[in-house]
This record gives sequence, C-alpha cells and structure tokens, in this order.
Amino acid sequence: MVQGVKIVDGFILNNDPATGDPIDPPVAVTTPSELVDVIAKANAAQVAWGDLPLAERIALLRKGAAAVEPIAQELTEMITKEMGKISSEAKLEVKNAIELKGLWLDMIQEANEDVKLGDGEAESVIVRDPLGVVVVIAPWNFPAGEIPLLALPALGAGNTVIVKPSEVAPRTGALYVSALASALPDGVLQVVQGDGSVGEQLVSSDDVHMIAMTGSSATGKRIMEKSAKNLKRLVLELGGKDPMVVFADADLDKAAEDAVANSVFNAGQVCCAVERIYIEKSVKAEFEQKVVDLAKKQKVGIPTEEGVTMGPMVSQMQLEIVKNQVKDSIANGAKKLYESDVPEGGGNFFPVTVLTDLTQDMLIQKTETFGPVIAMSAFDGTEEDAVKLANDTEYGLASYVYTGDLVKASRVARKIKSGQVGINCYSLIAAQPKCPWIGHKGSGFGSHSGMDGFRSFSVPKSLVYTTSAPL
Ligand code: NAP
Repeated sequence: MVQGVKIVDGFILNNDPATGDPIDPPVAVTTPSELVDVIAKANAAQVAWGDLPLAERIALLRKGAAAVEPIAQELTEMITKEMGKISSEAKLEVKNAIELKGLWLDMIQEANEDVKLGDGEAESVIVRDPLGVVVVIAPWNFPAGEIPLLALPALGAGNTVIVKPSEVAPRTGALYVSALASALPDGVLQVVQGDGSVGEQLVSSDDVHMIAMTGSSATGKRIMEKSAKNLKRLVLELGGKDPMVVFADADLDKAAEDAVANSVFNAGQVCCAVERIYIEKSVKAEFEQKVVDLAKKQKVGIPTEEGVTMGPMVSQMQLEIVKNQVKDSIANGAKKLYESDVPEGGGNFFPVTVLTDLTQDMLIQKTETFGPVIAMSAFDGTEEDAVKLANDTEYGLASYVYTGDLVKASRVARKIKSGQVGINCYSLIAAQPKCPWIGHKGSGFGSHSGMDGFRSFSVPKSLVYTTSAPL
C-alpha cells in the first residue's frame, strides 16, 4: 500500500498513489501567523476590488482564466501524480476548468447586475453587496476543477478569496490559483496550505465572511457548527449516494453503459457517481449480464499507461473504506458477479467490482462508497417502489432515471429528492450551463452554478426611491 499524506515539521509530504514515489518538493503548511496576514491582506484588497465596476472585474477574471491555458499540461500531470486520476480524465478536468471562463463569466456578470423595478415613479433598484472575504475549501477528487466553481462566482461578485486545497493535492490547487491570480490585483486571490486544522482556523476567523466548501458531509457539519458563532454565510457542496433507476422499457444497453461508466469514472471517487442501481425485476438478469460484460472491458492500472481506464484509489484509507463495504455486503448476502484484476506492485488499486442483490439495510447502501463498485438490486417495477428506494438515503445530490417513457420519467424525477435528475443521461455532463448545482438533504445547501448559484456570493440590497431611479 502507498502511505497516505503526512505533515512533518511544517511540510506536507505526499506520495503518488499508483507508484508510491514521493512527490517533490514538499509543500510548506501556512502557519497561524501567516494565516492572519493572508486574511488581513484579503480584507484590505476587498475594498478596491468590490468598488471596481462589475464589467472590469469580469474582464480581469477572463484574463486570469486565460493564464491557466499555458499550464494545462502541467496541471494535468500534477492531478494524475497527486491523486491517481487517469491522464484522459485529468485532461478533461483541466479543459472544463479552463472553458468555464467564457460562458460562466458572462453568466456571473448577468447574475450580479443591478435590477430596476417599477416604471417612472416609485422605482426601486436591487443592487448586490459582496460579503467580503470568502474562503474556498476544496476536495482532492477534482483538485483543479472544483476551485473555479466556487472561486469565480465569489470573485465576480466582488469578494476576495482565499483557497485552501486538500492536503492530498496541494500542488494542483496552488498551480491553478497562481495562474488565475496572476491577472488580478495583489491580495484578491490567495492560496494557503495545510490539513483540516488550517481549514478550521479560517472557518473560525472573525475576519472571514463566508465559507464555500466542497467535501464530505461530516466536514460540512463541522464547518457549520464553527460558523454559527458569527452567522457566516455558507455554501456546502457535500457527499452523495446517488441512485439510478432502470425500468424494463429503458434502452438497456445505454443504461448498462452509463451504469458502468458512471460507477467507475475517477475510480468511483465522484460526488455524483452512480452508487445504487435499482433494476426492474423482469430485466434484472439481462441487465446484470450486460453490466458484467462491460465491466470486463475496464483495465485497472498505472494512470498514465495506454489502455488503462481506471487508476488507483487516492489513499489507503479510501481503499479500506471500499473494501470494508464490499466485504460487509457479501457477509450479509450480496453476490459478487465480477472482480477485475489489479496490477501487482503495491499501489492503492481496487478492482472494478460488480455486486448484486444488495439490500437497503447494508452498509454499502447507506454510506457513500466513493469507489469503483457497481452496486445493483431489484425493484418491483412500480413508480412508487422506484421513488421510495431512490429516496431511501440521507443524501440528495444527483439521481438517474432510465425509461423509454419520458412522461413516466418526469413523474418519477419530480418525486426524487435530489438537486439533479438525469433522465437517460449523466446529468453532470448533460445539464444546461444555467442549471444550478445543489444538494438536497445531507448533500448540503447553497448552489454554485446557474443564476441561483452565481448569486450565492452576494446579498441583495434594495435602493428604494419615491421618484424615478437615477440609473
Ligand atoms: P473532506 O475530507 O471533507 O475534505 C474537504 C476539504 O475540507 C479539504 O480541503 C479538507 O482538508 C478540509 N477540511 C477537513 N476538515 C476540516 C475542518 N474541520 N474545517 C475546515 N476544513 C476542513 O472531503 P474530501 O475527502 O476531500 O472529498 C471527498 C468528499 O467531497 C466526498 O464526500 C464527495 O462526495 C464530496 N464532494 C462533493 C462535491 C459536490 O459538488 N457536492 C464535489 C466533489 C466532492 P484536508 O483534505 O487537507 O484534510
């Protein structure tokens, strides 16, 4: 097994999860007194940044986003080295992070513009106040891609931003932030490094005004507790246990393809991964066979090698969580239909695993797996049973409904409690750019995309006139 991240003498030490090779150079942890300086600098810079006209801020952010393009290859390689993502997926993550600059920045501008109400007499104008200093706390699973989702709308709204990447992927976070910050005034966008305790110091500071965090529900709850002291605004993008419902009238080939692809993408370490698959019982055996045939085409290995479709798990700890869930489900009556090979040599590799006959009381159906397990069970074919099973979770991030009957799909989708429902598709990829990204229930609250999301980083203020407004 590859040893996980360690902090020694004020430095973060990481190893490549596929090979165990140390990643150089070690990264210095930001000290408490440095943190105080970073926060003070962010507050000082916010005054001028917030005063800049919206269009000028957006123009500078566009330049910053363009400065990421020349380091795309370096970023791609660093993602793979730090967290084991296969090269093609790392490349896609960087491409998406860069492409946000065009469409997104236009929408962030539109969302934050003044809105005039009334006509001629007694007009009101809704303007938006930035919150001040926003801390963006990032996860390791999309260590470049998740940062702009929160940082760009926060900056566009006139806040200054401090980013804390995960200690698991500190170099990726620093590379992305440095490029984006290169076009912005000093102090507008800064990066700090360290583990959860550094995140906690930021959350606890009275001089930070909002926390925008992507990570586990457990950490989200802790951040919420700490933020209660001074009612900090929060955007919490948390975990998922996302269901996929497959009715007998679905295109079963397409459903099986999506079930496998979206269970093993990024080795299953995706917040909206397909984690629970419910198949109408009359087609269960047929569907399972299709899934096994497709799973056999996956190749687990060194993430930079040609032909490899899935890399290692990020850490030994993550691997143990998945192993334990699979073991527990088999001990409680689940069947293992397939398990892939893994390479020799000690990387954190977990096999692509196909399970069936899972029951709702099993650990694997209740807790986020975050691993490459295709987890199946049957439902009776009624819409009621599909909805009941899909909603039988503390989470509510995304969900997926597969059927040839779009009216039925719409009825079922409207009853599932989650932020997105992909109908015969993977919604993360297929959603329109103006769709919000938000969790229901234990998957968090506060969105980061769509007009609602782009307005999450400012508060509206009404300027109320008894005359026409001077705009
Ligand atoms: P995590 O352990 O909760 O960590 C997330 C971030 O919070 C990291 O930067 C972490 O620092 C920091 N942190 C840990 N303890 C903290 C504390 N007490 N106060 C402040 N910050 C603290 O999550 P992860 O393992 O990195 O990411 C995987 C999770 O993220 C999964 O549950 C996944 O579903 C979720 N996720 C959700 C979305 C979404 O859009 N909803 C997207 C991606 C991932 P260190 O890592 O340095 O400890």
